[in-house]
Amino acid sequence: MTHRRDLHWQILAALGLGVGAGLLWGETDTIGPVRPYAVFDFLGATFLRALKMVIVPLITGSIISGVASVGAGRGLGRLFGKTFAWYVTTSLLAILTGLVLVNLVRPGLSGGEPAGTAMGLGEVRPAVQQDLESTGAGDLVGILQRMIPENPVGAAAEGQMLPLIFFCVLLGVAIARLPGPQGQQLAGFFEALFGAMMKVTGWVIATAPLGIFGLMAKITSNAGFDALAPLLRYGATVAAALLIHGAVTLPLLVRLVGRLPALRHARVMAPALLTAFTTRSSSATLPLTMDRIENGAGVSNRVTSFVLPLGSTINMDGTALYECVAALFIAQAYGIELGFGAQFTVVVTALLASIGAAGIPAAGLVMMSIVLGAVGLPLEGIALILAIDPLLDMGRTMVNVWSDSCGAVVVARSEGEDVLQGD
Ligand code: ASP
Repeated sequence: MTHRRDLHWQILAALGLGVGAGLLWGETDTIGPVRPYAVFDFLGATFLRALKMVIVPLITGSIISGVASVGAGRGLGRLFGKTFAWYVTTSLLAILTGLVLVNLVRPGLSGGEPAGTAMGLGEVRPAVQQDLESTGAGDLVGILQRMIPENPVGAAAEGQMLPLIFFCVLLGVAIARLPGPQGQQLAGFFEALFGAMMKVTGWVIATAPLGIFGLMAKITSNAGFDALAPLLRYGATVAAALLIHGAVTLPLLVRLVGRLPALRHARVMAPALLTAFTTRSSSATLPLTMDRIENGAGVSNRVTSFVLPLGSTINMDGTALYECVAALFIAQAYGIELGFGAQFTVVVTALLASIGAAGIPAAGLVMMSIVLGAVGLPLEGIALILAIDPLLDMGRTMVNVWSDSCGAVVVARSEGEDVLQGD
């Protein structure tokens, strides 16, 4: 069986091989009867189809089971309030950090021009502009109204994520409030659905090396190295924003709000953070995070078992930041100026997407469809950022877990616990 650790080396290799193959064979070159470009296209497009295939059932299972399990506990109102406030505040701060940086760096522009042309996007631009106009990206009231699905099944079938999430949250809350075995049965059903979809997603992710090879090769064979410069600038923007949020903002909050030693906390958490970095999964890291928080930082089981499982699925600062930077990068590359209303929509949907993303590798990438859809950008934009996603996933997963752990010690402290005492 392929191990997760092997997988990310495979993905890195696929990335390099894809660049090489794309540089070697242009769009019209042939090897005997075979046109390599067609093979790249097939591999990339098939992988994207498979990713899209898992979106609806995965987020349905994830959100309903997550909300239902949280809502089931009694007397947790105050804890929930504090935890939720931490999650939303830190995620918003992360998104704003990304928003400022991406507007300053403008990685989607090449010499003042949209980089999309160099990256092989030229043809789709007029259609995109039309899309954007017809969806009325700045129309916030309309977006809020459209969050309520006329028909939840229809929303799922059409891939309208926001209405689907809205409905799933409601259903989750309702299930938590159903008395007796009825609620448990339904909660169990959606938990099982989520578990099964995690497996299917795992299979899709196992094919990522092939898909990434194809997409990378296609991008470079269209455009050569020109295509890579904006991508690298984009990667650097995400990395810089993650660094600011993880190394400055969160430690400051731990110190100022929790009055706790942030550096000592980081030392305690190191094994979990490194695991997050290599597995690219907050969920897979959860046992380690819980161990470090309970046995390392000395947080009570009551706070740990509430804050962390919830955090690993809904509190994703790194993912939220990344959604925002990626969406604006794609808009810039397509040559579309997003005004204040549209950027505000990106902020809100990035927050929702990070809440909806499962704690598994590449979940944030799958959720990009929500953010892109909300402002009328084409899903194909995902192909642009896919190539370096595994690297960014490592960084954002680490920040996701770091924020959960900071939340746990701050909440524990506010509940009067002695945490992070001694070494
Ligand atoms: N891999 C991330 C996590 O598990 C989610 C994401 O893809 O952004 O936290």
